[in-house]
Amino acid sequence: MPSANSVEHPNTQKEKVEEWKKRAPYRIHESNEHFKARYEASCHCGKVKYELSREEPLDSKLCHCTTCQTSHAAPFQWAAIFHKDDINFRDGHHHLEWYDPSTKSVEHKLPCKVRCNYCHSPIMDEGRNMILLFPSLIKFQNDQEKRNFKPRLHMFYRERVMDIPDGLPKWTGLNEGEGSDLIEDSPPDMIRDLERKRVKEQKDRSASETG
Ligand SMILES: [Zn+2]
Ligand SMILES: [Zn+2]
Repeated sequence: MPSANSVEHPNTQKEKVEEWKKRAPYRIHESNEHFKARYEASCHCGKVKYELSREEPLDSKLCHCTTCQTSHAAPFQWAAIFHKDDINFRDGHHHLEWYDPSTKSVEHKLPCKVRCNYCHSPIMDEGRNMILLFPSLIKFQNDQEKRNFKPRLHMFYRERVMDIPDGLPKWTGLNEGEGSDLIEDSPPDMIRDLERKRVKEQKDRSASETG
């Protein structure tokens, strides 16, 4: 194809925009789907609003990696994992923007970060199968609701800017997969085994839910 044509025709771009709106997590649930909104959330300016149907996230983590530090301008990131169908955007589709930290692209391709294009609050990381929401945007109605989202572990703790002696498991890298170890003030062997077991159970559970 000649390079002069490498810029996409405006109509092609428009079709693409329409296409992402039809897919989870952006798809608006129909009224006959009985989407039960258990939580409401919004970005700082309120242009982007969403609700969640699941009472407890599949997992809740604190990430200390330097990409999270930079993109959140914070010492670490708090993220809760959900299925893409657990979320319903009530408002603000046209205020979403994307960023892929690995290629530094603002195209919508997975995985990517999702923000409000007005106040720039980070909203979630959209993975290929799951979303990692930032619970700081949720309007918790009571302490129990907040407890449901309590972080269960630290990951990429090797890259931390500060120590968090809270007794939670601390992984050098991802909390699952090769080359990551529990470190520092992580509780001893028994807790380590419990955490490995918990990660495995959670994996099995999400595998059976998606499959
Ligand atoms: Zn906003
Ligand atoms: Zn991170």
